[in-house]
Amino acid sequence: MEEQYSPETLAVRMQNRRTPEKEHSTPLFLTSSFVYDSAEDMADAFTKDDPEVNIYSRFSNPTVDEFVDKMCMLEGAEAGVATATGMAAVFNTFMSLLQAGDHMLSASAVFGSTHTILTKYMPKWGISSTYFDMNKPETIEALIRPETKLLYLETPSNPGLDLIDLELVGEICRRRGILFVVDNCFATPVLQKPIHFGADLVIHSATKFIDGQGRVLGGAVLGRKDLIHDIYLMTRNTGPSMSPFNAWVLSKSLETLTLRMERHSASALGLAKALEGHPEVSRVRYPFLKSHPQYAIAQKQMSLGGGIVAFELKGGLVHGRRFLNSLKMLSRTNNLGDSRSIASHPASTTHSKLSEAERQLVGITPGLIRVSVGLESLVDIERDVLQALSA
Ligand SMILES: *Cc1c(COP(=O)(O)O)cnc(C)c1O
Repeated sequence: MEEQYSPETLAVRMQNRRTPEKEHSTPLFLTSSFVYDSAEDMADAFTKDDPEVNIYSRFSNPTVDEFVDKMCMLEGAEAGVATATGMAAVFNTFMSLLQAGDHMLSASAVFGSTHTILTKYMPKWGISSTYFDMNKPETIEALIRPETKLLYLETPSNPGLDLIDLELVGEICRRRGILFVVDNCFATPVLQKPIHFGADLVIHSATKFIDGQGRVLGGAVLGRKDLIHDIYLMTRNTGPSMSPFNAWVLSKSLETLTLRMERHSASALGLAKALEGHPEVSRVRYPFLKSHPQYAIAQKQMSLGGGIVAFELKGGLVHGRRFLNSLKMLSRTNNLGDSRSIASHPASTTHSKLSEAERQLVGITPGLIRVSVGLESLVDIERDVLQALSA
């Protein structure tokens, strides 16, 4: 069935072979282990490593496999592995592919915990990293050393919504023999498919838009089969495997992902336009706004702009706090990619562990507000944001 249907149909229709119960919806296999008909079958399960035979849910589970299969289909990936959280996906990818003495490049604007892994933990194990500026891709090549193994980035970035040309970076990595890994959390495969532009691996925090309803944590790595095999073995042996329950929630979430991303994107564009030119706002960032400095890149590699809008308040830190305190409907929380609209103030929360200089470097100014535009009526979202701005 795979060949003849579009990805959005397959995201709804793909599922494991039905059990003898002939269930319509996805069943949940909430079991830690699996049984065998004989001692011989049991011995085979351990020696043959047949992906069709389940042993233990830390290794594989049918509900988790269904989620991974759908994610691979959406990203156009050969193989995938699901993890307990997005950070487990990031960490296990680095740990599987790098060893002492290796070096990697990373965009400076990465998720806060990724920054902590790069700067606090990896140096302890002899793995070094260098940051590059997302807005200066022409500086990347000069940073490559003989021991550079991997290049990592997020586009759009969090929270500044900077973009980078994936095809351009993919070409550099291919020519220089470096693995290219993209955190595609903000766009989701519905809006952007990094493998199409040369990425070897794509990472997701499924906690965000993939679930999209603020219920479960999860992560995934998708891409080249040989690399995924190593990451799978590390995940299976070190333990951060995805729980079957979370996989069931996420597999059902994928059925509505296309629909949700279209609505998130339409409303986010509407809010971004309403904020542009507002007297309290000095700058609005949204990939599909013509004023975005990388609008052309957005048009090339994204099908819609996504659900996140960032803007800068003229009043800095004081007005940032006042804005958050004046909201009546939007949630003050640090998650994103939820059906409920969320506002956050990165300088005092998610990126508070960075030094002031580091924050400056990645464009997190004191008055920066990030809104994750939810699925409520745009009229209500806009009204709340505008009344909080004039409070
Ligand atoms: C949230 C997030 C992560 C981490 O995911 P968790 O599921 O919270 O572990 C990684 N990258 C990006 C871009 C994120 O937004």
